[in-house]
Amino acid sequence: MIIDIHTHTFPDKIAAAALGKLIEKGHSKPFSDGTVSGLLAQRRRSGVDLSVILPVATTARQVVHINDSSAGINETFSGEGLFSFGCMHPDFEDYRNELARIRTLGLKGIKLHPIYQETDIDDIRFLRILDRAAELGLIVIAHAGYDVGYPGVVHCSPAMIRHALSEVGSFPFIAAHMGGWHCWDEALRELAGTGIYLDTAVSIGQLHTIGDGFYTEEDLYTLNAAQIREFCNAFGSGHILFGSDSPWTDPADDMAELRKMGLMQEELEGILGGNAARLLGL
Ligand SMILES: [Zn+2]
Repeated sequence: MIIDIHTHTFPDKIAAAALGKLIEKGHSKPFSDGTVSGLLAQRRRSGVDLSVILPVATTARQVVHINDSSAGINETFSGEGLFSFGCMHPDFEDYRNELARIRTLGLKGIKLHPIYQETDIDDIRFLRILDRAAELGLIVIAHAGYDVGYPGVVHCSPAMIRHALSEVGSFPFIAAHMGGWHCWDEALRELAGTGIYLDTAVSIGQLHTIGDGFYTEEDLYTLNAAQIREFCNAFGSGHILFGSDSPWTDPADDMAELRKMGLMQEELEGILGGNAARLLGL
């Protein structure tokens, strides 16, 4: 079973505008139209069995609505291999009840984006959310490290994650982008042995820009096979999850990259889906 733990969609009505804004900000080329049906078509085309959608609330006001529509996506599309997580925002006051409601809605976890949400992951407002999510058995996945669209900005560094875990204790936490995009030495140093999960999103293979010359080649480096080996040794390959960050890469390309990394068959199968299936309780 192949599971893509890291994908994004937008409501049909705003997908074109939202994607357009993100293309402008990130100078990156999308591989779907950003809609749920676009992701579904891409999932089928690329041979992924289950794509996990990660919604991001950029204001507290959006939280309840996004969680309702995430539950709606699951009702309609869980038989079609799409499954959405919920969201939370650090300024959402009634986070305790909303996180409980997220669980009642059947959402297995939440996505946090400390850069878009302009808050450090070890800020008290996130710590209390992490603590409550852990109490409820919700998985938390957080954007970690830099974001291509926000040069120089980090609100979830490996050291901050380590600090947050030391406050909250261990629970199912996924640090996206291999523990911190472009913070990979720090991730190995700070996070190995903590028991957290990492996803491969935007961390392997080639990144695709709109070709406007905004980035130099060294702005967009990713991990090579030797580095992936190092992460497997440090974290245990059972803690690494395949994620594409669709629409920003084509899952088929990323799968092909992973298959070229010289991993043992068992490790590869775990990363491509077995590990996520266990984590999601499938
Ligand atoms: Zn993402």
